[in-house]
Amino acid sequence: MFNHAPVDYFCLFCSLLAGEDDKRVYSKPADIIYQDDFVTAFIASHQLKNNPGLVIVIPNEHVENIYDLPDELSAKIHQLEKRLCIAVREAYPCVGNVIRQHNEPIEGAKCKGQDVLHYHLQIIPRYSDDRMYEYAEDGERYLMPEDERRQYVELLRDKLAL
Ligand SMILES: [Zn+2]
Repeated sequence: MFNHAPVDYFCLFCSLLAGEDDKRVYSKPADIIYQDDFVTAFIASHQLKNNPGLVIVIPNEHVENIYDLPDELSAKIHQLEKRLCIAVREAYPCVGNVIRQHNEPIEGAKCKGQDVLHYHLQIIPRYSDDRMYEYAEDGERYLMPEDERRQYVELLRDKLAL
């Protein structure tokens, strides 16, 4: 319902899940924090300027947006979301976090809405005076080096294992 992906759409997240080595995919299997038969969580390759450590949660099945997300899968995503929010809060020097999930690209807007057309929920750590809503636009994202991403992965894996 309300889908935008063309028939030949190249899905970055399905490629990551398949373990493909494609230059278009910045996320790597080593970015994955948690995975089971239904859902996967990983540290985002592109991060917001003042909110490092952003986590993405996706269903393993290709579902474009929330309109098509089966209720059982939604429940699994939100159960993991809660565990990750607690892990983020405990592992990072953050003071809270925020959940964001775009449905559909928004043409002509500064914040362009959904970029990858595979349902994804973002857990964004909040830091004191981060001015997140000033810097959360698309132009303020940066590619975090892989070794730095690994540090966040380790922190969260350790917390989830407790
Ligand atoms: Zn996909």
